[in-house]
Amino acid sequence: QLPLAVIFTMLVGYIAWLATASRMSFTREINYGLAAGEFELFCQPLIDAKKQDCVGVEILLRWNNPRQGWIAPDIFIPLAEEHNLIVPLTRYVLIETVSHLAMFPTASGFHIGINVAAKHFRDGVLLHDLNSVWFSAEPAQQLVIELTERDTLLEMDYNIVEALHQKGVKLAIDDFGTGNSSLSWLEKLNPEVLKIDKSFTAAIGTDAVNSTVTDIIIALAQRLNIELVAEGVETCDQAKHLRLHGVEILQGFLYARPMPLRDFPQWLAESSP
Ligand code: C2E
Ligand code: CA
Ligand code: CA
Ligand code: CA
Repeated sequence: QLPLAVIFTMLVGYIAWLATASRMSFTREINYGLAAGEFELFCQPLIDAKKQDCVGVEILLRWNNPRQGWIAPDIFIPLAEEHNLIVPLTRYVLIETVSHLAMFPTASGFHIGINVAAKHFRDGVLLHDLNSVWFSAEPAQQLVIELTERDTLLEMDYNIVEALHQKGVKLAIDDFGTGNSSLSWLEKLNPEVLKIDKSFTAAIGTDAVNSTVTDIIIALAQRLNIELVAEGVETCDQAKHLRLHGVEILQGFLYARPMPLRDFPQWLAESSP
């Protein structure tokens, strides 16, 4: 009979082995997927609350994995961050976006929002990627970097923030008001844009506490002269409330779901007021 301690050690070893094996395969899957072109860029329009025209897009990544089907970014982005693959993935998003810029309006400051993980801000990697991909293409559109904190606040290199501002890149704090994006970021990032998380938009007219928080976030941004984008706008009532409170830009299923980039020009033509 095996002593308990031996069984325990074997068990721990087996679990560690499993964890490594799954990490290896996930890393391989993503690298393979990148090489095989399995990642596809979608975009979702940003709407001017008053004029109702499209003033930009947010780029959203999708993984069409032939072995597992479509995988949502909420699943693979956190894993990619954990396995140090978020930088190559974001680089891919930048390259693909730049190569499709011609399908977006070039009129003054059309926003192109790209989600960037705080990890990418380390060691000048982001600046290097932007210089070699975005700035070398000299796009007419305005780059807006959307940043979500997740758990990497301490890993940020805030020196890069100043360099980005000087290059004319706008910074947006994503998911503002959730546990992921705290008030201390306002001071550290000096953002041009705040994105109100969709949970706060959903609370309008239904949840007294969170809907009060929404109004306070709006007031805060106005006092600091920061542009506001509300995410997850699904109803006319939400849009009206946000517009009346001075939120400039609205994004959500009410206007358009995220769509493949190639569908955008037709959507724009059909939706123009
Ligand atoms: P996010 O940056 O907050 O993106 C907005 C999410 O809200 C998108 O989910 C979008 O499809 C969804 N959404 C838009 N309008 C509505 C609405 O009216 N109602 C509801 N319920 N949802 C709406 P998606 O595309 O599944 O992306 C999820 C998250 O994955 C994103 O949240 C972002 O954090 C991350 N992500 C997506 N693409 C990228 C990427 O290229 N890089 C990085 N680092 N993260 C990404
Ligand atoms: Ca975002
Ligand atoms: Ca968000
Ligand atoms: Ca989110």
